[in-house]
Amino acid sequence: MADTNQFDIIVVGAGPAGLGFARAMQGSGQRVAIVERLAESVLANPPEDGRDIALTHSSEALMREFDMWDRLDATRLGMIRDAKVLNGASPFALNFESQKAGAAYLGRIVPNHEIRRTAYEVIRDDPGVTLFCAAEVASVATDAGGATVGLADGRRLHGKLLIAADSRFSGVRRKMGLAADSLDFGRVVIVCEMAHDLPHGDTAYECFHYDQTLAILPMAGHVSSVVVTLPADRAEQVMAMSDDAFAADVAARFEGRLGAMRLSSPRHPYPLVAVLARRFVGHRFALVGDAAVGMHPVTAHGYNLGLSGASLLATEIRAALERGGDAGDIRALTGYERAHRRTVLPLYHGTNTLVRLFTDDRPPARLLRGAALRLGTVVKPVHNRILHKLTDIEAHVR
Ligand SMILES: Cc1cc2nc3c(=O)[nH]c(=O)nc-3n(C[C@H](O)[C@H](O)[C@H](O)COP(=O)(O)OP(=O)(O)OC[C@H]3O[C@@H](n4cnc5c(N)ncnc54)[C@H](O)[C@@H]3O)c2cc1C
Repeated sequence: MADTNQFDIIVVGAGPAGLGFARAMQGSGQRVAIVERLAESVLANPPEDGRDIALTHSSEALMREFDMWDRLDATRLGMIRDAKVLNGASPFALNFESQKAGAAYLGRIVPNHEIRRTAYEVIRDDPGVTLFCAAEVASVATDAGGATVGLADGRRLHGKLLIAADSRFSGVRRKMGLAADSLDFGRVVIVCEMAHDLPHGDTAYECFHYDQTLAILPMAGHVSSVVVTLPADRAEQVMAMSDDAFAADVAARFEGRLGAMRLSSPRHPYPLVAVLARRFVGHRFALVGDAAVGMHPVTAHGYNLGLSGASLLATEIRAALERGGDAGDIRALTGYERAHRRTVLPLYHGTNTLVRLFTDDRPPARLLRGAALRLGTVVKPVHNRILHKLTDIEAHVR
């Protein structure tokens, strides 16, 4: 009789990246086990978590390929046609216009719980996937022959490859001894959705004020996703404000561009800690999603990188299977490490530099960011490079 706990790949974490990887392996003939701490009913109907995820053209294309796109609630889908970066009261803004990039829009924006729901729906009936929900990982190990995951209830799962997709604070990464560098920004981001009187014109704003940063991202209709970044010691105070006082404060900081504003969802705080694993793979072991790289959300790359990384790893594994290897093939893992790191490193370090520049209130930094914005507006090649990165137009529109 076949061993019911024998798989090819064991994924810990059924977040958007872990589920995305499982979907990318669909039809490969590989048996994938997914271990998740949450109950399956929560995966099927994830609660709103306040995050609205800005998606690149590449991610939209992958979500279409994975049959997730048409399952999204169309009434919640936003479109970012243009974007503006504002620096305090400076008249100079950095403008990103989709038309200039030859695209209809820079990106789309979708509530995170919608991504989680659709990622679950597309693997739910896959005979190649077995879910172990409401499960806690007790032990993990790999050796020359394969990988073993021990669950807290005593069950043991065996496979050829172990994947950690258990968030930026990955316990599996730590148990497997892969080191990660983390950068605590000492800040908290408060996210929510707000309805407003005036139309947003499908334009996203990133406003760098001296003590806090405000991002306003256009959702469907007269609703925007609001992201307030502020020093951690002020977050509690802002979370304690009444809904009306908070809404009035955001509207005032946005200088009334959207007219009166009202909260249309609860506020959710997230501490800002960026994490980069020193290696993305080990012996019969790989990291995907935030477990590999947990980005500061300001440049909206976390899920985008998680999805493209998951798809890349699946492509490498499929190639290894065709060569006669198994899912833990070392060439596949190093191919993933090399290519994903090449994409991740400039974005990770670039984002952290940008955050430091725009959250530093000392006069030299103020001057420098003023200059950066003016330069970005005037110097076309710099501006165009940023624009193409936002839209990945080379890859998907041209
Ligand atoms: C405020 C905010 C705004 C953001 N905006 C954007 C954006 O605009 N664009 C973008 O691309 N990205 C954005 N991101 C990033 C994006 O949300 C993350 O990159 C993405 O959710 C990571 O997915 P993941 O599957 O790697 O991890 P998670 O979403 O963290 O999922 C991890 C899963 O693993 C499970 N788990 C953890 N530990 C265990 C365990 N021991 N055993 C079993 N299961 C376990 C958890 O229950 C969870 O289901 C934003 C993030 C934040 C906080």
